[in-house]
Amino acid sequence: MRFKRLESVAIAVLLLASSLSARAQGPSLSAALPLVHTDNGPNSPAAQKAHYVVLVSLDGFRWDYAKRDGATHLLALGKQGVWAPQGMLPSFPSLTFPNHFTIVTGLYPEHHGLVANSFFDETKQARYGNADSAAVTDGSWYSGVPLWSLAEGQGMRTACIFWPGSEAEIAGHRPTWYARFDNKTQATDEVQRARIDDAVALLKLPDADRPHFITIYYSEPDHEGHQFGPDAPETKAAVLKMDGMVAKLKTALDATHLPIDLVVVSDHGMVKTEGPWVTLDKFADLTGFDAVGQLLYGKTEGDRVRLYNQLKKASSQFIVYRRKNVPADLHYNQNPREGDPVVVATGPFAIRAHEPAAGQPDTAPIPGAHGFDPRNMRQMKASFFAAGPDIVSGKTLAPFENVNLYPWMAHILGLTPAKNDGNLNILAGTLRDNGGEPAPAESADQKTPEPTKP
Ligand SMILES: [Zn+2]
Repeated sequence: MRFKRLESVAIAVLLLASSLSARAQGPSLSAALPLVHTDNGPNSPAAQKAHYVVLVSLDGFRWDYAKRDGATHLLALGKQGVWAPQGMLPSFPSLTFPNHFTIVTGLYPEHHGLVANSFFDETKQARYGNADSAAVTDGSWYSGVPLWSLAEGQGMRTACIFWPGSEAEIAGHRPTWYARFDNKTQATDEVQRARIDDAVALLKLPDADRPHFITIYYSEPDHEGHQFGPDAPETKAAVLKMDGMVAKLKTALDATHLPIDLVVVSDHGMVKTEGPWVTLDKFADLTGFDAVGQLLYGKTEGDRVRLYNQLKKASSQFIVYRRKNVPADLHYNQNPREGDPVVVATGPFAIRAHEPAAGQPDTAPIPGAHGFDPRNMRQMKASFFAAGPDIVSGKTLAPFENVNLYPWMAHILGLTPAKNDGNLNILAGTLRDNGGEPAPAESADQKTPEPTKP
């Protein structure tokens, strides 16, 4: 199995190289970051006339970093188009995988299924982990229709130069192009620049093959924010480095002379952690519970009641709820993957179920963290900047929920969105057409994706 998978990657890389050299007029795709190709056919005639969205995520780029650190290119992008000077509201929990998948599906985490970066599923009797390549590439973990699948299903080609979920077949489709995530090479300068080279090479493909929706993901400044804290000089340096990367991308996109709307967002913010670990089994008997991080999965209702009662008044550093009673505006009370009871921190406290097993080193919480309730912790807010031919100029936005990006991007691309938790009216004022009638949906391309070559 392992060998077969590697072999199919190698074939895909070769196919990519040959298809680009045969069809692209411009520079060939960067060898520093090969993309996997899925043959979804050419763009439909309607898709060929559509505009382009390049969606960039800067992981952990807190809402106030751009102004605080003088990220002049991002601020200029916001001035040219629109931005949210007081930030964009992430969904709860303010973690990377849940929010990236919310941005591309318009669904709250409990509706798209990624309720945390790692969690347990009782029906599957299996665990999802964002570093587990078998899980992240298995489409059965994900619900909703991510924008790339939506577009592919409506005859429009897409590319994901990294994005959580993009390596799986979801809602019957894969992006036409996607990159395989590799944590080891992810943050090297070469691979960071290669994302821009790849995007530009894809945008130089002929009309029939050129993707209209492209995602690009950067893991900075999240990494520095965790390791050194949000206020550290290292984090500021990463903010300015990413600002420079956006400037390079913007210049490269402008040079294509295509009608591209550039959207730069982040998934969440970052806060300086306070105090030592809050370890739940110091307050309560977790016998009978499986735990993933701070998520708690009981086997019997009796165990859940007992644990809830033991934790209820245990500490001022967290509130514990029976899952069904988690406040409605957290949108975190319906999915069994959330566990029961549900523990919500009241401040920037690092919570875990257990201490490390005997013999494993126990380290203090890292200086920066996120995942907290964005309703009462402003440091959790994310960033939003966007400019392009479909977007008005010089408008600022009050904080809005990130579920609203999905119907908004679908509208720009002329796609009929799938069922989602967002509302186009929230961001309609940022659009030159005021969010008017979306382009009529192209008769859906019913082509079934071809099975992966053995
Ligand atoms: Zn993080």
